[in-house]
Order: sequence, then structure tokens, then C-alpha cells
Amino acid sequence: MAKPKVASVWLEACAGCHMSFLDMDERLLDLFSRVEITSTPISDIKEIPEVTVGVIEGGLGNEEELHVARDLREKCKILVAWGDCAVFGGINCMRNFIKPEDMLREAYTDTVSTVNPSGVIPHVDLPPLLPQAIPVDRAVKVDVYVPGCPPDADTIAWVFNEILEGRIPKVPSQMMRYD
Ligand code: SF4
Repeated sequence: MAKPKVASVWLEACAGCHMSFLDMDERLLDLFSRVEITSTPISDIKEIPEVTVGVIEGGLGNEEELHVARDLREKCKILVAWGDCAVFGGINCMRNFIKPEDMLREAYTDTVSTVNPSGVIPHVDLPPLLPQAIPVDRAVKVDVYVPGCPPDADTIAWVFNEILEGRIPKVPSQMMRYD
């Protein structure tokens, strides 16, 4: 029987959630024997295939991320929001108190840079920012929430096991971790 496929994407996020996934260590070998990983945040795959489980690390901050989240939602049966940035917006929402144009000006043109003392101009190809950073479920339906910043590797392993056993898990509070 074909293994269930898993695709994960990394949107507005730091690397912490993915590092926690890698912290599953030897349990990754068990996971890889049970699923086929079709794409990860470090694979350069433009087209997400149809999968059983889609995982989103990070929240939504620009139009491109919104497109990726909607695309993955369409192509997966079970969507997992993984980490606080995905679950409720997390640290990304700190920018919601500042107008996007003010933030871009501060980041790119007003701030003195060691590379370019007069500041740098944002490239025209940068995806337009959403008016506010938002969690994943503000844009698409989420089936499984995995809170934590980052979620613990034990919790991630448990969530995968639950899904592969045919259950839609609800992470108990004692399994949530905040470092
Ligand atoms: S939830 Fe925490 S560890 Fe995960 S991407 Fe956000 S800031 Fe990083």
C-alpha cells in the first residue's frame, strides 16, 4: 500500500519550528518509513503535489504566503498549523501595530546600513505585504493546531502518530512548550 504523503511549507517564520521537527532524531527514521515526504521548507519544489497531510510552519504576512497556504489547503486532506506563528500569528503580529509602509521605510530606506549607508530600496519583486500578519486559520481551514514556540519534538512525533493512526489530535496543554 502506498504511504501517505506529507508536504510541509515554511512561511513567515524563524527556523525554530523546523529545528524541533529535526529534533525528533531517530524517530524521523520511523516517520520516514511510514510516510513519503514530498516537500519540505528546504526543498526547492514549486508545485505542491496532492498529499494526505499538509504542514504549515509560520504565519501569513504577504500575498505569496497567502497563495502557498491556499494551494496547500486545496491539495491536502489534513492541514496542520504548526507553532504559534501559524496557530495565532505569534511573533509576526508584532508588526501589526505599525503601518506596512512605515515598517518598510524603516527597514529598507531610513535605517542606516553598513552595506549602503543611505539605505536600500525594496526590490519591486518583493511580494506585497498583507495589511496585517495573520494566523493560518484566518485564511484557510486548519484541522490540527500544534501550539508552542517551538512545539516540542515529542509533541510533533505524537501529532504525526495520531494522524497516521487515523485520529485528528488535539494537543493537550501539558504537551505545549514555550522555551
Ligand atoms: S512559533 Fe516560535 S519557533 Fe516557530 S516559527 Fe514562530 S517564532 Fe519561530
